[in-house]
Amino acid sequence: MHKKIGILGGLSPESTVAYYEHITRGYVRAHGDFGYPEILIYSVNFQQYVDWQHQNRWHEAADAMAASLNALHRAGADFGLISTNTMHIVFDEVQAAVDMPLISIVETTARAIERAGVRKVGLLGTVFTMREAFFREGLQRTGVEALVPAEADQLRLSDIIYQELCRGEIREESRQVFQMVIADLRRRGAEGVVLGCTEIPLLIQSKDCDLPLFDTTVLHAQRALEYATEAVPVAG
Ligand code: GLU
Repeated sequence: MHKKIGILGGLSPESTVAYYEHITRGYVRAHGDFGYPEILIYSVNFQQYVDWQHQNRWHEAADAMAASLNALHRAGADFGLISTNTMHIVFDEVQAAVDMPLISIVETTARAIERAGVRKVGLLGTVFTMREAFFREGLQRTGVEALVPAEADQLRLSDIIYQELCRGEIREESRQVFQMVIADLRRRGAEGVVLGCTEIPLLIQSKDCDLPLFDTTVLHAQRALEYATEAVPVAG
């Protein structure tokens, strides 16, 4: 019997849809039938989270995430995912308050980079993910160094994420902005690029970039599928 997956979603809805697709299609590709693990999605009020982020009220966000994840657990979920990179800033705090295991997107990504034998990556995401230490430190634990764009570029990318991608808008000129930033990271020595925001894969895919990409949405969803269907540990 598969474990039931609980997804804290809506951060933003554009990428929650992708999680659902990756898990269900990934199952069909691997097994050939439609016996996917059951999935519960708790889609939150995204504006509330954006306000907390911009007002530096991370502990309130952590409390709210823990409450939603515990509700998923009471509804039958065996383990959980926080389907956004940014909110992993308080991952440890949330995990400590939740009664089921959570799969970390940061740790999942770190393991994938390690397996690929890449030592230095460019990290793209929201300004919080690029500016704060949590993601870079998470990668550092497996010996991976992360380079981030210059401050002005961090703000440009973050604007594109919140103003366009989280609203389902895909623009060619914004793709070019990402490509320019990736080219700069490459010149600084990046051997791969972490798409460290679950909406970036809506804009940038392998065909748009000549460095290996680590798509956190796909990696996190795949890990959840493996954990739900096989006896594998949450971490690793
Ligand atoms: N989904 C995005 C991420 O992976 C950003 C949206 C949010 O602020 O949660 O970081």
